[in-house]
Amino acid sequence: MSGCKRCGGVGRRAYGSTAVWRGGMGGASITEAVCDGCWGSGDENAPGPNLRKQEAEAAAEWRRRYREDAAFRWKERARRFARRAYNHRENYRSLIKYQLTPMRDEIAQLQAEVRRLSALVTRP
Ligand SMILES: [Zn+2]
Repeated sequence: MSGCKRCGGVGRRAYGSTAVWRGGMGGASITEAVCDGCWGSGDENAPGPNLRKQEAEAAAEWRRRYREDAAFRWKERARRFARRAYNHRENYRSLIKYQLTPMRDEIAQLQAEVRRLSALVTRP
């Protein structure tokens, strides 16, 4: 057992902001919360669950799911676009007038998205 220096082994301590162990934006009032040296155990060598790490992991997971959902939506749009083009391949006038013109904004968005994703892929 080695008492936590930050909280003196109590497991909780006072922070200078309501953001407590998160840091960053928060109200400017002294707030008591779980100690970020020992995460509540009072022993810095046997800390409790690291809430800062848990929150960061949850946020990373949320971002990953959001990206997957966005990629799926765009894949569906591209597939729909390709299907329409294929179904009207014998009649380009009809394809352009009735199928592609109403999708003009969507096609422009798709182009922009492909450009954005390409830039991400080629980034070192
Ligand atoms: Zn502590």
